[in-house]
Amino acid sequence: MQQIPPLWLSPETHLARSTPDHPILYFSPRVLHDVANRFQRGFPGLVTYAVKANPHPAVLSNLVAAGITGFDVASPAEMDAVRAASPDAVMHYNNPVRSEVEIAAGIAHGVASWSVDEPSELDKLADVPKSCEIAVRFALPVAGAAYDFGSKFGAEPDMAIELLKRVAAEGWTPALCFHPGTQCEDESAWVEYVHAAKRIIDAAGVKIARLNVGGGFAANRDGVAPDLEKVFAAIWVAVDAAFGDDKPGLICEPGRAMVSESFTLAARIKGIRKAGEVVFLNDGIYGGLVDIRDMGLPGRVEVVAADGTRRGADAQPRVVFGPTCDSLDRLPDGLPLPRDTQIGDYVLFPGLGAYSSAMSTQFNGYGLSDVATVIELSGQARP
Ligand SMILES: *Cc1c(COP(=O)(O)O)cnc(C)c1O
Repeated sequence: MQQIPPLWLSPETHLARSTPDHPILYFSPRVLHDVANRFQRGFPGLVTYAVKANPHPAVLSNLVAAGITGFDVASPAEMDAVRAASPDAVMHYNNPVRSEVEIAAGIAHGVASWSVDEPSELDKLADVPKSCEIAVRFALPVAGAAYDFGSKFGAEPDMAIELLKRVAAEGWTPALCFHPGTQCEDESAWVEYVHAAKRIIDAAGVKIARLNVGGGFAANRDGVAPDLEKVFAAIWVAVDAAFGDDKPGLICEPGRAMVSESFTLAARIKGIRKAGEVVFLNDGIYGGLVDIRDMGLPGRVEVVAADGTRRGADAQPRVVFGPTCDSLDRLPDGLPLPRDTQIGDYVLFPGLGAYSSAMSTQFNGYGLSDVATVIELSGQARP
């Protein structure tokens, strides 16, 4: 018979009953459904999910259950993961540098849309069926994101014009795509890209079927829920101003903002030294806390004792090390933790669904692999 894993009331009840000595992610499918619904209600086009943010089977199958039909994949392994979650999910293969073997895998998986940002990469796609869409990925030197993907991928507008002409001339369905970067807190990045897209298609003299505005939607970093609807509205106003009655279909591909709030990470305190100034956790930058190294301190950390009760004393700044024997395994900004924190307590990090388990290594025999399903997550902002 199929195993159905237990559903816990909350991270606190699970911690109190099982006092795990390894880091755990607590997943609330309800929160994921709420966020997926918010995107589908608010975004004026097709909402796809960028699998790399969190490819856990429970994430993919719950997104399918919430009505998500399209997935942004970057590798054959991600295609397999999507297929396992849904036999008819639509895949967009938006990693623009591909080996011959990867291209064959994409064709075999029935990828519907392929991005391209270089003539040499378009040359490689000769065997892609003409029924597919090829989206030219372009990049602008715009700020606004926590880090900039334009430095790695994306054709400059002049090259994008030439690529778009070639895609149309060679018989695929032409489209354009961009990705403004991750944790993009300024909607003007999308606005600039939308207007640049219009200039590219005018210069190419090609009508595009769809414009993919990428991911990069901000997640809650400091307890203030980002105003996604404001970003959706700014994108729609820009598309309306640029394209009028001749709008392309729109696609977005959130990763971080889709999944981050539905997981809370719990790491246990292994050691406390120097009158509380230094704390050792059983997870760190080689595990599920790597995004804290890259994105900075989250604002919503809580500490619970092994019996599940919350530590309530005022906060004291701490130096925080992870469990490995590498001195780099340290949270760059430390963490303020309550003064009554003790060895054996758990630090709860809400909003760690994205780029956590997906990027965790097994370095030194540590790492994040366990997920428990919960009904409620505290500390997470409701949409
Ligand atoms: C990583 C990525 C995304 C998702 O980015 P988030 O910041 O997680 O929303 C979307 N599209 C492409 C092409 C990506 O590489």
